[in-house]
Amino acid sequence: MTIKLVEPKATAAGDRRRGERRLEFAHAWDYAPAPEAVDHVKILPRYELFIDGKWQAPEKGRYFDTLSPSTEQKLSEVAEASAEDVDRAVRAARHAYDRVWSRMKPLERGKYIFRIARIIQERSRELCIVESLDGGKPIKESRDFDVPTAAAHFFYYAGWADKLGYAFGGRPVSALGVAGQIIPWNFPLLMAAWKIAPALACGNTVVLKPAETTPLSAMFLAEIIQEAELPDGVVNIVTGAGATGAALVAHPDVNKVAFTGSTDVGKRIQKALAGTGKKLTLELGGKAANIVFADAPLDQAVDGIVNGIFFNQGHVCCAGSRLLLEESVHDLVIRKLRDRMATLRVGDPLDKNTDIGAINSRMQLEKIKELCAAGEAEGAERWSPPCELPAKGFFFAPTVFTGVAQSHRIAREEIFGPVLSVLTFRTEAEAVEKANNTFYGLSAGVWSNKGARLFKMATQLEAGVVWGNTYNKFDPSSPFGGYKESGFGREGGRQGLAAYLHVD
Ligand code: NAP
Ligand code: MG
Repeated sequence: MTIKLVEPKATAAGDRRRGERRLEFAHAWDYAPAPEAVDHVKILPRYELFIDGKWQAPEKGRYFDTLSPSTEQKLSEVAEASAEDVDRAVRAARHAYDRVWSRMKPLERGKYIFRIARIIQERSRELCIVESLDGGKPIKESRDFDVPTAAAHFFYYAGWADKLGYAFGGRPVSALGVAGQIIPWNFPLLMAAWKIAPALACGNTVVLKPAETTPLSAMFLAEIIQEAELPDGVVNIVTGAGATGAALVAHPDVNKVAFTGSTDVGKRIQKALAGTGKKLTLELGGKAANIVFADAPLDQAVDGIVNGIFFNQGHVCCAGSRLLLEESVHDLVIRKLRDRMATLRVGDPLDKNTDIGAINSRMQLEKIKELCAAGEAEGAERWSPPCELPAKGFFFAPTVFTGVAQSHRIAREEIFGPVLSVLTFRTEAEAVEKANNTFYGLSAGVWSNKGARLFKMATQLEAGVVWGNTYNKFDPSSPFGGYKESGFGREGGRQGLAAYLHVD
């Protein structure tokens, strides 16, 4: 590795000179490739449906490919479940609920969930590679965040299984029955854990539908469930596209639907369920404001901004995609932010030094490009650090737009990519008004050195989660969910139990 500090040219203006020097310094670092070894991971050429504890072929015999978005190469093919297959899975779940799971002592149920958590830990080196290969996220995130947090959710809810009677002030509780669960592609294993762990702890059985572009970690989870000797039919996993999800929602013997995904599909599901009596929770999109006051620790804030929007390629429903800067520090923060962005490494998700991996699919990449073009056309100023993107695969450089107006599409619509829109404010009241000026309400961040201000802002922001002087922090004991068009119901914590129980 060579380290070279390039001195600034004497003629440039003071501020620009400092920025240039730091930029050149950043690019003088040359990281040698550090790819994660993958030879210990066995991905099968084909996966069937996981129904009633066994791998079962789909009735119509259809399969679809899952690709690595960083190489565009096929990794495997998975079964496409038809309505008949979904029916088979729901019947298996019902049978397991009636005969085994609802009759089992809660303490025993908890032991199975603990066992799943422990096997996830044991197989974590495989799981993180599968997650990065299939979804494109950097290995350091799947290794240090997705997989350990998934295990933590199973551990956390295993502990609740025999304490449900204490969860709601001593009120009696009972399970709902069969839960149909549909998850997106941005945190495939973690979303499966968020859904399955509380459902099982509360005594329900499950049919899970993973996203079309990222089914593989759910296939590994099915193997883990077999290894844990969970009774047959307690968890069933049906892969497929939107139609498979729609069949699960429509199935008359499903008692509860839990959906994480886009607001559009969420609305369709809500319409389909109206009047059916099925219980529903929706975790949908977001357009979070990350608000930085002039009195904030600015260097930490810059790292929080970077983490808030570039973490996981911005494929995060709660991403801090709108940066609200107090006007007096706008120029300073933008300069620091650009310097920091210039050090981010975009590339191979399996390289341990990669900060920003591949965009999940070509479709998502096109959507990001289209919204960025709209940002430029509407008059915002676009900037990305100089960075070479790999020739193959779906990649997008970290991008910041300054001079953004609230009416711009990039300030209103969810981009779901590594793209930040910057707005300014002068007073606390203006910051709150701008932050709340969105259909969404999933999360927000506030940066200030005044604790009282953080608490006051938290009560005024219409967001399910408000982070103070940090961003994108998760813990299984902390509830997560939305306001407004970001959905309803909570996942995580004691509150997350309510989604899977009748509370008398
Ligand atoms: P999506 O298109 O809504 O898909 C989510 C899931 O629903 C996928 O499994 C999808 O299958 C399935 N699906 C599609 N059409 C369906 C239908 N008519 N009925 C039932 N299921 C259907 O969302 P996405 O684009 O994959 O995910 C990104 C979105 O998820 C973003 O808007 C993001 O904000 C949101 N998200 C929210 C949270 C949260 O906690 N609030 C967390 C993560 C993501 P296919 O994959 O085959 O299309
Ligand atoms: Mg894939």
